[in-house]
Amino acid sequence: MPATILSGKPIAEAIKTEVESEVTALEIEHGIRPCLTVVRVGSDPASEVYVTSKVRTAAELGIISQHHHLPAETSHEDLLRLVNELNADNNIDGILVQLPLPKHINEREIIEAIDPTKDVDGFHPVNVGKLSLGYPSLIPCTPAGVIEILKRTGIEIAGKHAVIVGRSNIVGKPMAAILLQENATVTICHSRTADLPSITRQADILVAAIGRAGFVCGEHIRDGATVVDVGINRVSDIEAVSRFFNGDELAKRLQAVETRGSTLVGDVNPKDAMAKAAYFTPVPGGVGLLTVAMLMKNTVKAAKTRRIEWPQKGSKSAK
Ligand code: NDP
Repeated sequence: MPATILSGKPIAEAIKTEVESEVTALEIEHGIRPCLTVVRVGSDPASEVYVTSKVRTAAELGIISQHHHLPAETSHEDLLRLVNELNADNNIDGILVQLPLPKHINEREIIEAIDPTKDVDGFHPVNVGKLSLGYPSLIPCTPAGVIEILKRTGIEIAGKHAVIVGRSNIVGKPMAAILLQENATVTICHSRTADLPSITRQADILVAAIGRAGFVCGEHIRDGATVVDVGINRVSDIEAVSRFFNGDELAKRLQAVETRGSTLVGDVNPKDAMAKAAYFTPVPGGVGLLTVAMLMKNTVKAAKTRRIEWPQKGSKSAK
């Protein structure tokens, strides 16, 4: 039987509806409207698409959104100055500096300069530390979205063996921390893992976050596994596209390559996943849709924590 497709759309829509209700309640009950500020440096086309979607979604849900678009030649010091200004502005709840930054800017220093209480991407070491300790924190949006897909679909996590391929700071590592907190038994694989297929084939839940189109294929997938594809890759090679899709989907993808020059493929070979897995998240239309929804959720969480919970607790130590 082919895998059941875990579509991200209804789950992302449900989360956005919940966020919208929370935003309305915050305004009615506390006179607060959460505010998200997105900073983009340079003109990377993918970043432009992501930032536009983040700013638009925020506005749709009643969150105030600001967008600072700086030229590619902006100096490290100028960006740092802007981050510090945003930190100091009490009306701003969430600060997101869109990555990647131009090479001359020290990405790590910029992330570390963001006030952890406004770090809606969840990349600041304070939030990373809290997550690994199991304390409440702002959690990176993409792995948080993966958990929402699993939970809201009723896929059991506790006691299951979750294998993650990829150990990046933004996906693989936080994914492992969250799955561990959800009581999965977690294995993390990477480019130096020996005999990868023998490990991934043990997975009840297999998460691919590698950055290589269709890398995870039949030999990596256990029959009946849940396969979560985080990858987003542009593929323009017709031969590769033919290895990943068949039937109507193949025709659709070849048409996309012809008209747009490429088609989006995840890190999992979808043809193989459909044949072997029990559940599979598609690309596009899977995890990617959750990332923006979870960013909105984090913004509201930051607003509530900063403006309602801490003032009531009345001390910095409450942080
Ligand atoms: P990175 O390049 O930062 O990390 C890739 C990871 O994959 C590394 O840990 C690397 O191992 C591992 N890897 C590379 N090659 C192999 C291999 N042959 N075997 C096993 N492991 C391997 O990527 P990201 O985590 O940032 O992104 C991963 C994917 O997820 C990308 O396709 C990206 O576009 C997508 N993405 C999607 C998002 C969404 O919203 N859906 C958000 C963020 C990312 P090592 O550490 O040893 O080098």
